[in-house]
Order: sequence, then C-alpha cells, then structure tokens
Amino acid sequence: MKVLVYSAKDFEIPFLERANNGRHEVTYLKEALNLDTAFKSVGYKAISIFSGDDASSIVLETLKGLEVKFISLRSTGYNNVQLKTAQKYKLKVANVPDYSPYAIAEHAVTLLLALNRKIVNANNQVHAYNFLQSNLMGFDLKGKTVGIIGTGNIGTVMCKIIHGFGCDILAYDVEQNPNLIDQYAIKYTDLETLCSHSDIISLHVPLTNLTYDLINKKTLALMKPNTVLINTARGAIVHTDALIEALENNQIAAYGTDVYEREKGVFFKDNSQSGITDERLKKLISLSNVLLTPHQAFMTTEAIQNIAQTTFENIDSWASGEKCANELLPEESVTEWD
Ligand code: NAD
Repeated sequence: MKVLVYSAKDFEIPFLERANNGRHEVTYLKEALNLDTAFKSVGYKAISIFSGDDASSIVLETLKGLEVKFISLRSTGYNNVQLKTAQKYKLKVANVPDYSPYAIAEHAVTLLLALNRKIVNANNQVHAYNFLQSNLMGFDLKGKTVGIIGTGNIGTVMCKIIHGFGCDILAYDVEQNPNLIDQYAIKYTDLETLCSHSDIISLHVPLTNLTYDLINKKTLALMKPNTVLINTARGAIVHTDALIEALENNQIAAYGTDVYEREKGVFFKDNSQSGITDERLKKLISLSNVLLTPHQAFMTTEAIQNIAQTTFENIDSWASGEKCANELLPEESVTEWD
C-alpha cells in the first residue's frame, strides 16, 4: 500500500523503516497534517499522523475527497481526530494503544522528582560553582498522599511506581480497576475528595469533552497549598489561566508538565531563532515553580520501536483486508476534541 507519513521526525524514520521492512511504499513528510498540507495525500491510500496533526472534520473531508482510506496514528491519544466525521466518511482510524505506559509514567515521576528536589535549579547553580543548599529543600515522598486521575494503562504503572515510594494512593476514574485496590491499596474516590486530600496529583485521562478543563478554578481551589500537579496527559485537561493564577497566588506549590493546550505549531519545532508569541506559554515557562518538557514522555527507544511496529501492523491489517485490532470508533457519550 502507498503510505504518506506526516510529521515524520528524523529520530523515528529508522524505526519506521525497520518495522515496514519494505512491505509498503512509504513517503516521509516533515510537515504536519492540516488543511494546507492535506492535498499532499493525493495518490496515497493510507496516511500516518502524530498527536500534533490536525484531523478535524474539514481536514477529513479533504482527505475523503482525495480517496484516502486509512489513518494510522503514531500515538495513543486521538483527541486530534474527529472520529464521528471519520466514520461518516468511511475513513478507518487506528491508534497505538499501549506502546509503553512505562515511558510515560516514568516521565511523570521524573517531573515530580525533579521539581521536588529542585534538580534543574541545583544543576544551574553548580554550573556557576554555587554549592549552597539553602534553596534546594524538598520533601520525602514516603507517607504522602498521591492522587491519580485515570487508572488505565499509564495510571496503572503510575500506581505501581508510587506504591514503591510508600505513598498512599487516591484514584479517580469512571471505571475502577479492582486489581489496583488489591495490589497497591489504592482508594477510589470522587474528584473533589482527591483534589482536597492529595499532596501530589498526576493526570492520566484522555482529552475528551468530559475531561476538558477538568482541572479548573474550582478544582484548583480545593487543592492544598503544598500540592504538586503533574500532567503528562494533554494540556487542555488543565485550564491554563486558572493554573497560572493558582501558581502565582501559592494556591498550589508546583506544576510539572509534558503537554500544553496550544502545542500545535509550537511544540515539535525549534523556535529558538524565531521566538514564540503565545504569552500564556511564555508566562508558564517563566514561573520558577513550573517544569515544562516538550511532549517528550514517549521518547524512549522501547516506545518508539513499539509505535513503529504497531503503526505498520495496523496498516498490514488494512492492506490484507482484515479487521484492524486497534481501530477506533466514536463513543456515544464522549466527543473528541476538534
Ligand atoms: P487508557 O485509555 O488506558 O486510560 C485512560 C483512563 O482514563 C481509563 O481508565 C478511563 O476509564 C479513564 N477516563 C476516561 N475518561 C474519563 C473521565 N471523564 N473521568 C475519569 N476517568 C476517565 O489511556 P492511557 O494509555 O493510560 O493514556 C492516557 C492518556 O495519556 C492518553 O489519552 C494520552 O492523551 C496521554 N498520553 C500522553 C503521552 C505523552 O507523550 N505525553 C503519551 C501517551 C499518552
């Protein structure tokens, strides 16, 4: 099958080439899918996109007109794809459901530990030969209460790691996982109780109409002033203005994030020469109690290998006329973010 890979990054192409192993005729494009680049899909039956690409209704309409049939996502999250429209146009869409929940959960813990133990400040300081400890005070994780929002693949690994630190775990999810209650003594509760009782909160839900702005002025107001909030899920799960206010007013202690609500067009690019114009993002970066990484949680060899493998397994299934195991259908009560 002829496949066009949008948003192809230099680091992933060798993995994709190995996984394809010459079976499909693949073209790699650095540009992301959007209304301006959709026409490049002409002559391709399948395309592959990443989490920053735009597969909103209008783009899908263009793809349908160009006779594209299949979209293989190289990500777990699919909030950038309007699945209802894809279904209407008979465009089949598949994701990579669990390429490495360890990569993401371990990055969430990395953000937490780095913030708590002031690792970035300490490193900057010693580069200037300043070996004082006075501003490097953290806290023991042992005995703290950690709230985990979303106990799916990544949230489950997070529970296991956090349990290892000797923390108490509160969890919030629309579906409870009884194994986590047995194995790690986690307590499922409502969102309000989790927010008001946790010292650390980590987000692991997908971005949908139900989780958009889940962390907002109201939920932030419930949090304790020592709360460290970690987000490796999606930026728009947190209301950025309310978050900045809470950080500036010491309503919460710190924010560690790998994602931002307006990543599109800024993340996955070197903007060091041009600069950025997003004032909210500039503000977030400037705060001393914020640690922001550029959507890199999936950047482990194992994760990239698994993403490449599953991407081509999905394409193989479609090429051979079989049903693809990772095919996505719109859920009744949940709409993806357009
Ligand atoms: P998953 O589907 O295994 O788990 C998601 C959990 O969230 C499920 O248990 C589900 O029941 C729960 N949930 C869904 N809607 C909810 C709601 N409204 N309220 C409460 N709980 C709800 O997904 P996962 O593999 O654990 O991934 C979670 C998210 O992490 C992805 O959707 C993606 O957005 C993000 N992610 C980020 C990166 C990164 O590089 N930063 C990489 C992979 C995934």
